Amino acid sequence: MRSKFIIGLAVAAFAALALQIDVTAQQGRGGAPAAGGTTAANGRGYPTAEEYASSKEAQAHVAKAKAIAGTDAKLIMRWENTCGALGPQRPALEAQNAGQKPAPPKVVEPVKLFDNLWYIGYDTIGAWVIQTSDGILMIDALNTVAEATEIIEPSLKKIGMDPAQVKYIVVGHGHFDHFGAAPYFQDKYKTRIAMSAQDWDLIERPNPNQSAAQAARPRPKRDIVIKDGDKVTLGDTSITLHVTPGHTVGSLAYLIPLRHQGKPITALMLSGANITPDRASLTAFHRALDMAKAAGAQALFNGHPGLFGNELGWMDALRKNPTGLNEFVYTRDQFSKFIDIMKECAASRVVAMGQ
Ligand SMILES: [Zn+2]
Repeated sequence: MRSKFIIGLAVAAFAALALQIDVTAQQGRGGAPAAGGTTAANGRGYPTAEEYASSKEAQAHVAKAKAIAGTDAKLIMRWENTCGALGPQRPALEAQNAGQKPAPPKVVEPVKLFDNLWYIGYDTIGAWVIQTSDGILMIDALNTVAEATEIIEPSLKKIGMDPAQVKYIVVGHGHFDHFGAAPYFQDKYKTRIAMSAQDWDLIERPNPNQSAAQAARPRPKRDIVIKDGDKVTLGDTSITLHVTPGHTVGSLAYLIPLRHQGKPITALMLSGANITPDRASLTAFHRALDMAKAAGAQALFNGHPGLFGNELGWMDALRKNPTGLNEFVYTRDQFSKFIDIMKECAASRVVAMGQ
């Protein structure tokens, strides 16, 4: 159990490090652990370990979260990973602060996670392919235009899908590793691109922290502008979007209707990775989590696998045995508790920062 947990942490470290490096490249914040694009009044995404340890109120939230996890081993692991000064990104940020470099990302075999959801891309960042009755709705689009022809199109063909059927790409937030190939699909297949208003602004605005090469990289042209609570519908599938500022000003949370072995199941995707630097972002995060709870959500994803658990291991298990245990699935009661744990853990960081 312990070694499994450590492997999980290593995987999380690897994935989240890629995320953090992207963030620092985007925002030019150097190696500081603060997440890029944060809206915190103090300019930081996380409390220091000292602030965290010395805040009684923060510790009370952590203790409450631990009590919610109770004796459930899966929830105790989620609590260990989520509740800390640095949140789920802790292992990655600790590795980064220790000067460690991540291994180069590897392209993975496409994997069917649910009856109507596939994951394609890298072991650090991917595109999430939802099959609907009227084509494909894709969440995120890897890092670059070149990856459209090198990775996304071949992966779709491998799972028997036609890239021309990608009707929508919903971009979780305005960083290159989420929208990179979107301009290709927009130009070639007239794919509709959706992003929050805040993050369309973010990618269109000149960024003095970006290099000339970054500034010259293609962005999708402004298309569908998402407001909090909007739905994107394709055929029989409607996903609901909430704006959860923190990682960027307009990071999205998604409620996604899926099917698991023939039965409906709702998944939550958090593109902002639990980053809530201030009260306003905490309120928005809590609201999105409450919506997921009300919808009876039972699974959680982040654009970067490995942030909330050993997702790469869970994917491998599904490749080997597609009808076996799907570790992404929680019981309704478990997931409801997991949501409460995430709420308490995020609150603990905000109060530790004195917000
Ligand atoms: Zn990002």
